[in-house]
This record gives sequence, C-alpha cells and structure tokens, in this order.
Amino acid sequence: MKVLKFGGTSVGSSKNINSVISILENYASKDSVICVVSAVGGVTDKLLLAGKQAQNKDNSFSETFTDIKKIHINIVKELNPEKNEAILEYVEAKLSELKSLLDGIFLINELSPKTSDKLVSFGELLSSYIISETMKNRGISADSKNAQELLITNSNFSKAEVNYAITNKNLETYFKSAPQKITILPGFISKSQLGEQTTLGRGGSDFTAAIVAAALKVKQLEIWTDVSGMFTTNPNLVKQAYPIEKISYQEAMELSHFGAKVLYPPTVQPVLDLNIPIHIKNTLEPEAVGTIISNDEVVSKSPVKGISNIGNIALLTLQGSGMIGIPGFSKRLFEVLSQEKINIILITQASSEHSICLGIDEGDAEKAQTAIDATFENEIALHKIDPIIVEKGLSIIALVGDNMKNHQGISGKMFSTLGKNNINIRAIAQGASEKNISAVILETDVKKALNTLHEQFFESKTKQLNVFITGVGNVGEKLVEQIKQQRKYLKENLKINLRIAGLSNSRTMIFNEEGIDLNTWKEQLAQGEKATLEGFFEKTKSLNLRNSIFVDVTANKEVANLYANYLRQSIGVVACNKIACSSDFENYKLLKGLSLKYNAPFLFETNVGAGLPIIDTLGNLIASGDKITSIHAVLSGSLNFVFNNFNDTTKFYDVVKQAAAEGYTEPDPRIDLSGVDVARKILILARESGVEMNLEDIENTPFLSESGMQSDTVDDFYETLIADEAHYQSLYASAKAKNCQLKYVAQFNNGKASVGLQEIPSDHPFYNLKGKDNIVMFYTQRYPEQPMIIKGAGAGADVTASGLFADIIRIGND
Ligand code: ADP
Ligand code: ASP
Ligand code: MG
Repeated sequence: MKVLKFGGTSVGSSKNINSVISILENYASKDSVICVVSAVGGVTDKLLLAGKQAQNKDNSFSETFTDIKKIHINIVKELNPEKNEAILEYVEAKLSELKSLLDGIFLINELSPKTSDKLVSFGELLSSYIISETMKNRGISADSKNAQELLITNSNFSKAEVNYAITNKNLETYFKSAPQKITILPGFISKSQLGEQTTLGRGGSDFTAAIVAAALKVKQLEIWTDVSGMFTTNPNLVKQAYPIEKISYQEAMELSHFGAKVLYPPTVQPVLDLNIPIHIKNTLEPEAVGTIISNDEVVSKSPVKGISNIGNIALLTLQGSGMIGIPGFSKRLFEVLSQEKINIILITQASSEHSICLGIDEGDAEKAQTAIDATFENEIALHKIDPIIVEKGLSIIALVGDNMKNHQGISGKMFSTLGKNNINIRAIAQGASEKNISAVILETDVKKALNTLHEQFFESKTKQLNVFITGVGNVGEKLVEQIKQQRKYLKENLKINLRIAGLSNSRTMIFNEEGIDLNTWKEQLAQGEKATLEGFFEKTKSLNLRNSIFVDVTANKEVANLYANYLRQSIGVVACNKIACSSDFENYKLLKGLSLKYNAPFLFETNVGAGLPIIDTLGNLIASGDKITSIHAVLSGSLNFVFNNFNDTTKFYDVVKQAAAEGYTEPDPRIDLSGVDVARKILILARESGVEMNLEDIENTPFLSESGMQSDTVDDFYETLIADEAHYQSLYASAKAKNCQLKYVAQFNNGKASVGLQEIPSDHPFYNLKGKDNIVMFYTQRYPEQPMIIKGAGAGADVTASGLFADIIRIGND
C-alpha cells in the first residue's frame, strides 16, 4: 500500500492532473495506492473569499462563484473531451449546492466557523471526484472515497482535532476491503462525531495523508507538491535556495512551524512514532530527488539545515518595574492569551524580568491588547506595569538545525550578518534544545535577511555585491565595461558575485535587482526613467539589497551631499568625487563616523593618484602603528602633463588645451591650474594621516598670472593664457637657467601643508617624472630617510575606473 498526497498546484490544471494520473498508474502497476488530493490550486482561497463577500452583503460573491464554477467545468472538459455528461452533471449539481449555501450566507449575513468549514469542503470534494471519475473514464481501477466518512474529529471548526481511535479503525476497516486499485481521498476535510463538517486547518491535506499513512502503517508517505523538496529557505524569496536531500523529523517540524509552507506543521506527528519517512517530491519535475524526512542520522556540511520565515507577526511587550522579582506575571499573561485562544509563536524574557516579549499573529493583536490590558488593569493604574506595547509589521526568521547545539558562534554569526546589513533585530529567542534560533525583524527586511543569511550559511564562499553607480561619463563607462569583463573571473576566483543593480547619468536611471544586463546597459539607460539624485537614493534604499554599494563617479557637490544618507542605510560608498573628503572637516569626520557606526565602508582611493594605491597604503601604515612625519608629492596628472610638455618651443595655451582635450583636467581647468585640486588631495592625505585640517589651512602660492586668477569664465581664462604667455615663459626660463624642471608640488610637514610650483633640481626623485605620472613620498617613523615611494600614472579614465573597481573588490573581500 502506498500513500501519496498531491497539493493544489499538482491538481491545479488538466495538464498537471494528467501528470498526477500517470504517476499514479505507474505506482498502481506494483501496489495499491491511496491518493490524497487538495482542492484545485487557489480554490480554497476563492471559496473563503466568496463566503466573506456574501457575509458582507457584497454582490460580487456571485462573480467569485462563477469563477470557481468555470475553473472546475473547464478542467472536467479538458480532461474528458468525450463522455463527460455524467461527470458534468454531478459537478454542476455540487456547484449549485455551493451556490445555495452562498445565497444562504448572503441572506442571513452570517458566516459561522461551522458554515465556513462546510463551504471550503466543496474544494476537496470536487477535485477528488473529478480526478477519480476521469481515471475511471480512462479504464483505470480507481474510485474516490469521502474522507469525511473516515476522519473523525472534535467540533473545533477550522482546525479540528482528530479522534485517532475512531479514525484509525475506520481507515483500517475501509482499506482492508476496498476493491479499487487506486483510491482518491479528499484531503483537509473531516466530520465531527456529531456529523458536522470540519476541516484540519489550512494546508491540512498533508496532515490527512500522514494520518492515513500512520493508520495503515505504510512504509513511506509521499507528499507531491510544486517544488522539488523542502528547500534551504523559502525559494520564492531566495533564488539560491536549494532542496535539502535529507532532514530529520525534528528539523522538518521546526522549519514548517516557522513558516516553510511546503509541509503543514502537524503532518510529522502521526508518522514520527512509527518512523515512517516522508518523501517530498515535485509533480512538475518527478525525476528530481526531493527531500526525505526521517530519523536517519544525516551528516551535513552546515550545522544549519534551513532558514524559515513567518510573516504577519505582532510583538507584545509587557514591561514595568513592578514585575521584578514578583512571580505570577507571566502565568497571568499566558493564561489570558490561552483563554482568548491566541497562539504564542515566540517568547523572550530578559533575565532582569523587567519585560516579557511575545510574538503572535498580527490578526490577534487587538484582541490580545484589550484582554491583557483588562487583566492587568490594577497594576497599570498603580503604575507597576505599563499598558501592553504592540508593534506590527514584523516577521520571524529562524535558523534551524539539530546540530547547531554542537557548534559555537552560530547565533553570533547570524546577528553580525544581519547587523552588517542594517537589519534591526526586535527580539531574539533560542529554543532550549538549540535546534532553533529565531529573530523578530521588520517585514520589509525579510527578503534581505533571508538572502544574506542564506549566503552566510549555505553559500559561504560566494558573496553578492550590489553596486549602484551614479555618473557614467568617461570614467563611469570604463568602470561598467571593466566590471562586465571581470564578472566571471571574480566569481570563479574571488567568490564575489558582482552585479550592477542601479545606473544613472544626469538624465536617466535604471534599476534591476537581479543585476542589469551589461550587454545592453546603454540602450536600457537611454530608455530609463527620469533621474534625480534623491530618486536614485530612495530606489537604492527601497530595493534593500544585501551588500549594497553606492559608487559616485561624478564631480558633483549635490551627489557628495547624499553620502550620509547612504551610509545611514548601511550602504557602502565608493567615490572618485573628491568633494566630500575635502569639504569641511566636520563633514569628513561625520562621514567617517557614519561609516563605522553603520558598518558601511566609505572608500575613496581614487581621490588621490587615480588608481595608485596611495590612501590604502597610508591607511595600512597607520593601522600597523607607523606615524607619518612628512609627505612630498606631485599629485596632479594634469599639471604634470602641462609642465612636462611646456617649454620655449610650445605655447602655454596650446599645452593646457591639449591636456583638457585628452581628459586630464577637470571640466574647469582652473580647478587644476589654480592648485585647488592638488590642495584637496594633500588635504585628504593629511586628514587620513590623522590631522584635523581644512582647505583654508593649506598654503597655496599660485603661479597663474593675476588676470588668469581673476577670470570669470573658462573662456575668459583661456584668453588670459594667450595674453600672458610671457609670464609663463618667464617661469620656464627661470627653471631652465638653474637646470631645473618645473613641478607642481604638494607638501605636508609638521602638521602644515602647502602647494605650489617648484623648480626641481636634477638629483631629485621628482625631476624625471614623465607624462601624467604622480609620485608620493611618505616619510614615516619606519621610513625616516629613504621614503616609501608610490609612483605611476595618476590620471586617466582607465586607471581611475580600475581604482574604483579595486575599492569595490576591497569591500567584497572584507
Ligand atoms: P501544496 O499546494 O502542494 O501543498 P504549498 O503551496 O502548500 O503546496 O507549499 C509549497 C510551497 O511552499 C512552495 O511553492 C513554496 O513557495 C513554499 N515554501 C516556503 N518555504 C519553503 C521551503 N523552505 N521549501 C520549499 N517550499 C517552501
Ligand atoms: N485546500 C486546503 C488549503 O488550501 C488544504 C490543502 O491544500 O492542503 O488550505
Ligand atoms: Mg500545502
């Protein structure tokens, strides 16, 4: 004897029912089969909806009824294109019975739990009849049996308790002499000893099958559903979830109690004592191995077996100084909830006994609040305790595994993983058996929490980074292309799954939480929605993806002003924009502080020397205990280019124009030529060395002509370069006379910084600096005479993009 159960989706269409029939035929060739079926997928919900509508005097209950009718008639006709009259006649008769019941509810305006159970029973009665008659029509030895005649319960409507003594006897007697090879049994429905129609609770067809399997002591129970087993976590919310091959009864029970809908929680109970394994299989993919739930010792890699979630949770907190040390508060609290028939899903109590937290179904929150406040009326009036605090919009997530108790640090890992992603934990409970660690979090954080925990415990080697890039000009475009090219390498070699989830230029923006297709990003962006900086932030925040990183590839002040918002959401910031780090010291300090507080990296390596590892090296020196005594540097790729190409055979104007054309200068070349850009860079290095300094504190000796300094517009400025050629030639001549090279140098010494043009003699390391190269010399306590030198190309879109990329990877490796 075999017992199989097919769920709503499995019997949800004629196509799926045909798959069910062929699975059953295959089994029946070897053994007799009992097949428990659910209502056609979605029908139970529709029946309840129609009932509610009728109760509320809402005429649309007729439409809902028509919808239910159509679903069934279509399935009958599709399964039985011929010889369908008798089946249709019976189904239509049943449906008109249903219509009468709904009319009755409409008329009296009332839907009692008893009537509701009668109403939903139509779902399973119809599906089981249609399937068995279809099989008979095809010459298969099958029949249906009304489970209401076998499963006997008390009168606890909507979740009745089974009388096993009577039920088991009924089942044994009936199946001992049932003539048909295949029996189709409606799941979920039952009758009370008084003959009233009852049900076993939503999802209860699984339970019916387990009751039958246990009564008949079969070797195995098979639950056929629409997924390939019990997954490591909810597959609707985590794409990377995968089926667990073997799991213990206890683990399966914990997971289902905490929300893994694939198995109705009470299902394990009847089969547990008899040691009957449950095999979960996929009707839509019968060859998949599925999950075996049994008592077998299972050795698995991770002590965590699965992660589950339950939504619609309200948290009740009872607190007050009058509770300390006085026994009886919890007893009274639990008693009142039990009287109100409110199920407690989670309990935590601080050891100070100052407060008790309870997680319950959100739907019960008002009832609980009123009842508890009434119970503690006197204590509340005497200010011994506060009125109960109710918080809604919460969910419980739970890690489950028999073996967790033998491993230390799992809860630590769980909470630090959640914390790193800015997921606030409202309450924590750990079962004494240590098979389950639960946390109450905001409903809106559930998807992120499950994904990041799944990554941590089940995909420990890959880390997903979600990047949001603003600014896809020269540098930004290069960055996107580099990411596109390296994605596969990063995944295979560094176990980093890097995705661009948002992209924006000044006109449009696009988002894709699965990662933007980088083959067509330009076309997509051209068609994107209108971009605003606030809108980009809001969308990034609302997507709430784990390990999110905002990348600023602009030179825009407004973009820099939003970093604090990103950091406060635990979204990392990577910037080549120098404005934030060279802004007012208080702001720089604030951003650094936010980065620490919210565990959100803030990296800006490309602010100095483009892709050269200058800030990272400086950070490593300081972190390892070294002290910076002075810094000498040539930090402007553009000024270096200008002075390397300017001589008595060229014109200053032409050289500056060329530097701009090659993309080495800022859009406004005065930022470079006035020394402001270099001043910002040495300021950032000074700050990163631990010195509190502002831009005004930096001594800046300009080399531009007076009129160049005064010019109002970029065009005016270029004009002055032509007019003042003699001024620039004299700078060159003076250096040449001393056999020196002109270099624009930044210095930091004894807490003071300066920038300016210098005549560099031939024995100095700066003398031979070529093209757009940068050089930085760090003199430190450990490098007192021979400085640590970093030198290389310090400007250009490619190297800047690769510097940004390196910062992103640094976060990934963290
Ligand atoms: P049936 O109608 O076959 O009884 P259910 O809808 O009751 O199916 O249960 C199967 C569904 O449970 C899956 O489609 C999936 O969306 C959901 N589910 C939630 N958590 C899990 C999990 N951990 N493993 C598998 N499925 C899960
Ligand atoms: N049809 C019922 C429900 O939807 C029982 C089940 O499918 O298990 O809850
Ligand atoms: Mg189910």
